[in-house]
Amino acid sequence: MMIVMKPGATQAQLDHVLEHIHANSLTPHLSVGEDHTVIGAVGDTHAIAIELFEVLDGVAAVKRISQPFKLASRTLQPFDSVFPINGLSVGGEEILLVAGPCSVESRSQLLETAQAVKEAGANALRGGIFKPRTSPYSFQGLGEQGLELIAEARALTGLPLVVEITSINQVEVLSKNVDVLQVGARNMQNFALLSEVGRTQMPVLLKRGMSATIEELLMAAEYILAGGNPRVILCERGIRTFETATRNTTDINAVPVLKSLTHLPVLLDPSHSTGHWEYVGAVARAAVAAGADGLIVEVHPDPEHALSDGRQSLRPEKFAELVRQVGQIAGVMGRKLTPVTKL
Ligand code: PEP
Ligand code: MN
Repeated sequence: MMIVMKPGATQAQLDHVLEHIHANSLTPHLSVGEDHTVIGAVGDTHAIAIELFEVLDGVAAVKRISQPFKLASRTLQPFDSVFPINGLSVGGEEILLVAGPCSVESRSQLLETAQAVKEAGANALRGGIFKPRTSPYSFQGLGEQGLELIAEARALTGLPLVVEITSINQVEVLSKNVDVLQVGARNMQNFALLSEVGRTQMPVLLKRGMSATIEELLMAAEYILAGGNPRVILCERGIRTFETATRNTTDINAVPVLKSLTHLPVLLDPSHSTGHWEYVGAVARAAVAAGADGLIVEVHPDPEHALSDGRQSLRPEKFAELVRQVGQIAGVMGRKLTPVTKL
């Protein structure tokens, strides 16, 4: 990190900063200018808060040069992380398609959707049973009653399950019953939850908070990695901007930025990032063209009667069209869709 001293900082203030640098096992490199003295503090700085130096008398500014995330960074691991999800893999050459309803609503709704998305080419099934809803009066999900239904859908289709976790109390039951734990946008900085899923070896789909920076997303991933769980999949799901024509604004930039900063797989959710089914296909294609390792898409057989997110849910035939189109884009990018496993 770089520490810039104020003009007129005294020798005693400079000595005090140097003491702190040594106390943190860093090596100082001094550059004394006419107005400013700049100190380069070299060493393993990722675990050192810059505030430790900002508070010192005589310090004008402190700037971090290396990334504050370490385990997530390409500096530590230059090659892409690839890891298994119940017979599939994520993060390699192939593009993973996760699809299914926003919420598990009923047996018929889930089984019909699961079969339809599998036929269309999905590799994994999504479906929330614990739903984080803005209003306490909205459908909150079936809770543990949904477990039997998702088990049946997995047995019927062979599709691994991606299910949202909203509380540390659910870690045990979901780890036993699903294949990927989804940490949603609203819980991206629920540090207790991140640490708890970091103590498992379950793949975790970590969605970007709606007002979180890319660095904050990577620091959230770092909590899981630092807990000993290397299986983190990042997901861009749109951020809040001044634009109101769509539910969120897809930060398509996040895809190449994340691919450059981290070795972790990157998925994009075109459903929550647009909020309208009409735009989902276009954004899905853009995501694959930008280098995403997969997509997570909401599909419902009867969106008009969906209990959550009907407006952004694709009918199965529209999802099948999306799969054909992203397959073509994948080919242009020198990649291919993950083949659908036969039962
Ligand atoms: C969801 O996937 O249904 C969901 C709630 O997503 P997000 O956390 O991105 O809002
Ligand atoms: Mn949803």
